[in-house]
Amino acid sequence: MERKVRVRFAPSPTGPLHMGGVRTALFNYLFAKKHGGDFLLRIEDTDQNRYVPGAEDYIIESLKWCGLVPDEGVGFGGELGPYRQSERKPLYKKYADHLIENGCAYYAFDTAEELDELRKKAEAEKQVFSYDLHTRNGLKNSLTLSPEEVTQRLESGESYVIRFKMPENRDIVEEDLIRGRVSFNTNQLDDKVLFKSDGMPTYHLANVVDDHLMNITHVIRGEEWLPSMPLHILLYESLGISETRPRFSHLPLILKPEGKGKLSKRDGDKMGFPVFPLLWKDPETGDISRGYREDGYFPEAFINMLALLGWNPGTEQEFFSITELIESFDLERVTKSGARFDPEKAKWFNRHYLQQKSAAELTAMFIPELKEKGIDADPKKVEIVVGLIKERCEFAKDLWAQSSYFFQAPESYDEKTVKSKWKADTSEKLQVITEFFETLNDWNAEAVKEAFSAFMTAKEWGFGAVMVPIRLALVGGSSGPDLFVIFELLGKDETISRIKKAINKIQ
Ligand code: GLU
Repeated sequence: MERKVRVRFAPSPTGPLHMGGVRTALFNYLFAKKHGGDFLLRIEDTDQNRYVPGAEDYIIESLKWCGLVPDEGVGFGGELGPYRQSERKPLYKKYADHLIENGCAYYAFDTAEELDELRKKAEAEKQVFSYDLHTRNGLKNSLTLSPEEVTQRLESGESYVIRFKMPENRDIVEEDLIRGRVSFNTNQLDDKVLFKSDGMPTYHLANVVDDHLMNITHVIRGEEWLPSMPLHILLYESLGISETRPRFSHLPLILKPEGKGKLSKRDGDKMGFPVFPLLWKDPETGDISRGYREDGYFPEAFINMLALLGWNPGTEQEFFSITELIESFDLERVTKSGARFDPEKAKWFNRHYLQQKSAAELTAMFIPELKEKGIDADPKKVEIVVGLIKERCEFAKDLWAQSSYFFQAPESYDEKTVKSKWKADTSEKLQVITEFFETLNDWNAEAVKEAFSAFMTAKEWGFGAVMVPIRLALVGGSSGPDLFVIFELLGKDETISRIKKAINKIQ
């Protein structure tokens, strides 16, 4: 019988979620939804030394912000919980015991100091110490000690670990759904710790046992976990649960904008872009790391950008709604090689999603910001303004920068423009123009444009000489939408008053 697709995102709460982690969650989510399956969130917190307070909430909030809502998991309910590994602690021992009983694992009593000593010694000889089939027979474990001594050590409460006994010279071959055939020889692998005497399993054991108990059918995770795959495969085999073993897929790295090396927080700090979905405040140092959300990205832009980091639809299409992503997503079209992150592309996606929003939607986002600034503008006017300037914006926060002059007279004038465009006779001409404006009754853009053109023709004044100075007076700079539209929106009195103010200030 075909099993229902079930995938999991299994982060460790060791800090904020990197955007690479969000992409892993996204690809799991897309795969699950494409196949009518379930997407689980499991928190892998067996390594209590690396636990960071707040990280778990951060992960959950990030997934929610991105719209990647789990069907089951910490904070989302489900039948096969608990979904936080520390709460599943009593469950793992029997699996570790089973491996001891069938000879696939052994107790090891070497102390941290002893192992450290061995590591240092190897280092001095330019070697790397590894607890494996070459060294295990010379170390302090249940393979070398007598059964009586092992029992006595266990009974006296001495600390121990349970290590996997890596079999000798076996080729572990697997069809990774992204990478194709991958093969490992067990002689290259070490005897990983599976369980500790404090009763906690390590990542490897807990991960495999939980994937089994949670009926996971596909493991989709970052490529840094590929080296763990042969051990995981052997664990399924040694536990006698190979029948339920999931298929594996290892996602490519997200690379630095330069193209070489894994994208890190430092790249973001250096080049000024976020690498985390949400702002993160380090609970120890208080250091702040910026987030896509707080930087003003729309979640749909962030997700669209992430989806194309390592996956492509095989067509020219670049803009995808989440529904379109679910339809088009396919692990076979995930690339094996790393995907270069381009911060400019991220902005470009945001610009696209901002342009897709109606002036009314953007107005609803903008009005609270105006209120905060003490500006109580007519929403109808704000909507017109937003419609005029939205194409100049990449982020919602650009709305103010592009439109402030509609709500507040400029306090200063762009110096370069003043220097090049404010000539000796400019003030005089503008003075005459304000007098002419006073005489106009009809103040809509079309009417003013017509009357003003006739006036300029009669005066034999070139438009070029006055338009930029007028814009400078109204806007403070030399760019913006059509000047007559600005006249109309500001109203006659405000237009005239701003021109007069500029004449006084710039003189
Ligand atoms: N806890 C691991 C992590 O932090 C999970 C790896 C896996 O998906 O197996 O990424």
